[in-house]
Amino acid sequence: MILTDTHTHLYSEAFEEDRPEMLQRALDAGVERFFIPAIDASYIPSMLALQSQYPDHIYLMAGLHPTHVKENYLEELAAAEKMMNDYKVYGVGETGIDLYWDKSFLKEQQEAFRIQINWAKERGLPVIIHCRDAFEEVFEVLESEKDDRMFGIFHCFTGTAKDAQRAIDCNMKLGIGGVVTFKNGKIDQFLADFPIEHMVLETDSPYLSPTPYRGKRNESAYLLNVANKMAALYDLSLDEVAHITTENSRAVFGV
Ligand SMILES: [Zn+2]
Repeated sequence: MILTDTHTHLYSEAFEEDRPEMLQRALDAGVERFFIPAIDASYIPSMLALQSQYPDHIYLMAGLHPTHVKENYLEELAAAEKMMNDYKVYGVGETGIDLYWDKSFLKEQQEAFRIQINWAKERGLPVIIHCRDAFEEVFEVLESEKDDRMFGIFHCFTGTAKDAQRAIDCNMKLGIGGVVTFKNGKIDQFLADFPIEHMVLETDSPYLSPTPYRGKRNESAYLLNVANKMAALYDLSLDEVAHITTENSRAVFGV
C-alpha cells in the first residue's frame, strides 16, 4: 500500500525536534510520497535540504503562500521563480486567496495568484490552491484563467457541494485532509456524490490534524486517518483508497 501526502509542510519549525522520527512514522504507516508546498523565500533552504536528505520521497513545489503576500510580494515571487528555474519542482504553490487573517493585501493576493497560475500553465505544472474565506474571490480568478492548460489541486477543500463542482469544472482535484474527519466538517456529507477520481489526500501538516488528534500537531503519518475515513465514505477498502488516490496524485504531479 502506498499513500501519497499531496500537501505537507515537513520543513516546518514544528518538526525541528523530531523530524527523522516523524518521517519514519509516516513511512511505517505506508505514506511514501510527500509533496511539499512552498510558503515564502525564507523556507527555500530547508525545503532543499529536506529534498536532498530524502530524495526518493520528497517532491518540492515553488510559490508564494497568500498569507505571505505583503508589500514585498514581487521580490518574493522573483525568489519563487528562481527556485523553479534552478531546481526540479512538481507544482506551483501554494497560492490563492486568504481573507481570514488579513484583507488588506487582497489586490496583491489576486495578482500573485494570477501570476502563479500562469507560471503553472507555461511550465505544464499543476497549481496548488489555498482558499480561506475567499471562495468567490478564488473562483473569480480561476474561472477567468481557465483553459486547457490549467489544472491542479484545490488544497484543503472545505467548501460546499456547489464549490466542489466548480473546482472540478476548473480542472482541479480536491485535496482532502483532516476536515473530512471532523464531526462538523460538513464535506463528509456530500463528498461521495463525486467520483473518487477527483480526490487526492493530504495532511497539511503541521496544521489541521484529523480526529482523534484534532488540536494537536499534525504529521504525515496521520494521513492514514484521512484515508480510513475516505474508505468508509466511499465504501472501499483502505488499499483501494490508497491505490486510487495515489494514482490521482500521479495524474496531477506527473510522477
Ligand atoms: Zn499548506
